[in-house]
Amino acid sequence: MTDPIRPQPGIMDIALYEGGAAHVAGISDAIKLSSNENPFGPSDKAKEAFQRAVHKLHRYPNTDHLALRQAIGEAHGLDPARIICGVGSDEIIHFLCQAYAGPRDEVVFTEHGFLMYRISAMAAGATPVSVRERERTTDVDALLAACTRRTKLVFIANPNNPTGTMIGPAEVERLAAGLPKQAILVLDGAYAEYVEGFDGGAELIARRSNVFMTRTFSKIYGLGGLRIGWGYGPKSIIDVLNRIRGPFNLSSAQLDTAEAAVRDQDHVDRCRAENTRLRAWLAEALAERGVPSDTSTANFILARFADEAEAAACDAYLQTQGLIVRRVAGYGLPHCLRITIGDEASCRRVAHAIGQFKGQK
Ligand SMILES: *Cc1c(COP(=O)(O)O)cnc(C)c1O
Repeated sequence: MTDPIRPQPGIMDIALYEGGAAHVAGISDAIKLSSNENPFGPSDKAKEAFQRAVHKLHRYPNTDHLALRQAIGEAHGLDPARIICGVGSDEIIHFLCQAYAGPRDEVVFTEHGFLMYRISAMAAGATPVSVRERERTTDVDALLAACTRRTKLVFIANPNNPTGTMIGPAEVERLAAGLPKQAILVLDGAYAEYVEGFDGGAELIARRSNVFMTRTFSKIYGLGGLRIGWGYGPKSIIDVLNRIRGPFNLSSAQLDTAEAAVRDQDHVDRCRAENTRLRAWLAEALAERGVPSDTSTANFILARFADEAEAAACDAYLQTQGLIVRRVAGYGLPHCLRITIGDEASCRRVAHAIGQFKGQK
């Protein structure tokens, strides 16, 4: 007999998201390079704001997020009225799918794209459509060819996770201009701050009514544990998303900490500079040891191995050395390992260990 209590169609087809591993059995001081976290952590000013928030835990948080939206607006030169804040950019992605896609609608994304696009599309009852990339890079022509009159949302992460590659502003604009009229282009800028001088697409959004951008405090701001993200786009879309946003979706601790973090752009600049330096060093060190990678624009490197077996064996060896990296078979890249750029000591350790792994074969 079938259970009369049933979820909506499609929900049970959603594969559970698996985060990067955090522990290795038997090793207490393992280095976690599996979740693209900032090894330097958040700004001291953000930590102080979090500590001060303890004094108002009995109060409900503000519902309009005005102070945080103003701080984001000042830091990025954006209109606060066109910003929405959420529980990570994951929640903004979820709002977009819930508001704009439903049964028989299509949500398009790239083949090695972020897993949340598929999960949120399916949660909304929509059909996920995965589009091939070219050399692990977003292919605008392939995306445009995949669009139909049912396409409601097209997600690209730029820079992309887990490939680390990105496409330039002219290509992004060609994509936006070529979409069917009913579709929104969502630019996921989770790693935008790692690209010096990059606006994540803000300037394009100022000129077009079909482009939206998501951003996060989880990566360069070092606040993944606190869950804060934001979106920026046309006022009409912000107005729609605010209708399904829970009024108290962000706690006062989240709001105050994020506001202090975004006001400390010196910290962001320091983290970007260190990441750029160490990323170049690690990519070259791995290449010298026979492990190639595409030029990364984010805070990780996608290391390529001969095949799935070699990637798995290297991952197992790294674990014995107390180094946790990310298998990305779930992203369609079974022969690769995604390695977050840690601090200098971590980069040296992972390069040394991969050299030993390659040498012992
Ligand atoms: C890490 C990441 C995010 C951030 O998600 P949050 O919910 O803000 O922590 C979004 N998109 C991509 C592509 C990511 O890699």
